[in-house]
Parts: sequence; C-alpha cells; structure tokens
Amino acid sequence: MRSSIIMPIRFAALIAGLFVFSSGASDFSTAAPARDIVRAGLLIRVESFNLSGDDYKLFEMRAPVEARFRKGNDYFVTALRGRIIIDGKSYSSPLRITPAASDDTVRINGKNYRDSIVVSADGGARMTVVNELGIDNYVRGVLAAEMSPDWPQEALKAQAVAARGFVWRNAGRHAKDGFDVCATVHCQVYIGASGERPSTDKAVFDTAGEILLDNNGAPANTVFHASCGGHTEEPSNVWDVASSPIAYLVARKCSYCDWYKHYTWSSQIEESFIRARLNAAGYKVGNIRALEITGRNVSGRARFIRVIHSGGALAIRAGKFRLAVDSWKMKSTKITAIVRKKDSFEFRGYGWGHGVGMCQAGAKGMADAGRTYRDILGFYYPGTYIKKISE
Ligand SMILES: [Zn+2]
Ligand SMILES: [Zn+2]
Repeated sequence: MRSSIIMPIRFAALIAGLFVFSSGASDFSTAAPARDIVRAGLLIRVESFNLSGDDYKLFEMRAPVEARFRKGNDYFVTALRGRIIIDGKSYSSPLRITPAASDDTVRINGKNYRDSIVVSADGGARMTVVNELGIDNYVRGVLAAEMSPDWPQEALKAQAVAARGFVWRNAGRHAKDGFDVCATVHCQVYIGASGERPSTDKAVFDTAGEILLDNNGAPANTVFHASCGGHTEEPSNVWDVASSPIAYLVARKCSYCDWYKHYTWSSQIEESFIRARLNAAGYKVGNIRALEITGRNVSGRARFIRVIHSGGALAIRAGKFRLAVDSWKMKSTKITAIVRKKDSFEFRGYGWGHGVGMCQAGAKGMADAGRTYRDILGFYYPGTYIKKISE
C-alpha cells in the first residue's frame, strides 16, 4: 500500500486525511499533550520481523541488561509466552534497541530507523514494534513521503512545519495501541531514514522545532492535501466536526495549483463496482441508473451525490460516497460532472484530496512565485503564527 502511494507522485497527504473522514470524527477541539519525542508504530501485533543493523544494543527495559549485536547479522525475531526471542536468546518485554552510534540506524524488515526501537510482546506470540525518536527525525521521515525532494525549498519548509504540527497536535491518537501515530496513511506516512534526502532534511533543519499556533496560542491542526483544485475547503464540509468554525481552516480561493497534473482529472468507475462498494459500506442500492450532484459548497465541492437506483433513490454525503467507492480514482469531491457510460460512470473534477488546510501543489506554486514558507503557511492557515517548540 505504502509504495503504491509514494510511487505515482509521492503525495501521501491526499489519503492521509481519509482517516478523519472514515472515522467520522476529527479532533479539532482539544490539544494533545505537548511532546518532542514521537512514538511511531511500525508493526502492530506481528508474529515475527527481521532485525539488522551495523552495530546496535539491546536493553531489557524492566531489567537493564545490555546485549550488543554486530554488523552483518540478520535476525528473525519472534515471541513466545510474552518473551522476545532473538538468535535463540529470550528477552523480557519491552525491549529497547538503539544504534551504537547516535547518527546510525537500526533496520526493521530492511528499512532504516533512527534513535530507538521498542519491541513489546503481548502475553503470547505477538509483538508491536515502535520507533521512538525525536520529532525532527520523525519529520525527516515524513517529508520525503509527502513531497517530492526536488520541489522548491520554501514549499518543503512549509510541509515540514505542517507535518511537525500535525504530529504534535495528534500525538496520542494511537495511545490504545501503545504509540502516538502509525506510519501509514491513517496518520501520516512515515518511511524512516531510508527516505531522507538532502533537500528534505535541510527543510526540517531550517525549520527545526517550528509548529503553528492558532490565535488562542494552541497548536493548530495543520492538515493538508495534494491539490485543492482552485479552492480549499472548510473542515465541517468534510468531517463531522463538533466545534464551531476553525479560524485558520477557512475555505479560500487558491490560484497556485493549476500547474499540477492532477489539477483536473477524470476517471471511469464500473457501475457494478460502485454498487458493490456502496452496499459494502451499508448503503442499500440496486442497479444504479444515475448519479447526480446535489448542492455545492462555497469551494465548489459537491455536498451530496444522489444515487438513483432500481430500488429507489438516496442521497449520500459526497465525501462519504468518495471514501466508500474509490478515493484513488475519485480524486476529490470537487466534481464538475458525472457522465453515464455503458456499464460505468465517468467522473470529472478538480484537485486531489479533501481540500482542507494546505494545498501541497499550491505550496509549490507559491514557492515558485517567490513566496517564503511563512507566506505559504500564512495563506493556507490564516491567523496562525510560528512557534519554536524545541531546538
Ligand atoms: Zn494512524
Ligand atoms: Zn490549491
């Protein structure tokens, strides 16, 4: 899944927002506890994983016994009755693994990770593997997944601040799993040290510790998406947001992303596929005769899709329809037309993603026009200001 996200355009954000979509709830009301260490969940309740690295140490966190492993070894790690088994030796859980040199990495399933890995076994044979690392090292591993490293530096810097703010604000989202954020599109895609590039690293270093605060001094929820298609959207039109309008997430016209190759798009989806997906999502529909757009938001996004089918008709919120059917093919709800073809429907529209907050393609457009990352953040999150949370 992850590689398929990164491959086409290195934009994970367009899906990253979907979690809040699908859960039906988004936390825009309470600030997460402040922290500059991120616990990123890499593997959840797995039976085994591969561990390697140049030179690293193991610590049993409950009984500090250190064991050192050397270059060239490649271990298949398992668990048994709540203990962690590496190279025939049994360790108590949780187990911390750190590279011997501070700028080195440990490899989990062939991917490099900085700072520290914590392995916890449940009572039986399953383990959860968490990368515990400094927030800026984490942002380095997000940035390479979220933006192309050859984009202008000011756009990369804006993305670094947004990604840092997102994790700062949403830390603890996975508290019940034993970490802060997962490494997938559900939160933000995090690919560890393997994705680091000089340009993306520089953007992180040049904005070290910076996040955005809103006009009440609280960390802003800096959500973002690939392209707004000409107009950003407000959260209440996308998610079930309980709170009143959020001052820094307002729908506004964006004239900076029309260069982007998915600024306009069209795609064809089979009628039988749409029907199956809607039924799987709990919408009872028969053979679909027509799909109609009902109402539009100020951003031009469809409010509802009316599904006219053999058993009647029903209106589904456009965002929910998109999620249920195919959020990859139906790139946004900024749909201009739905055309009936023989056995399928053709969707035409603008932009990619939910449209709330920073438009990534627009960030590049602004940077190309000579704007700074402060200009970019100020445009997409109006009324916020930059604050350094750590060095
Ligand atoms: Zn997650
Ligand atoms: Zn835009």
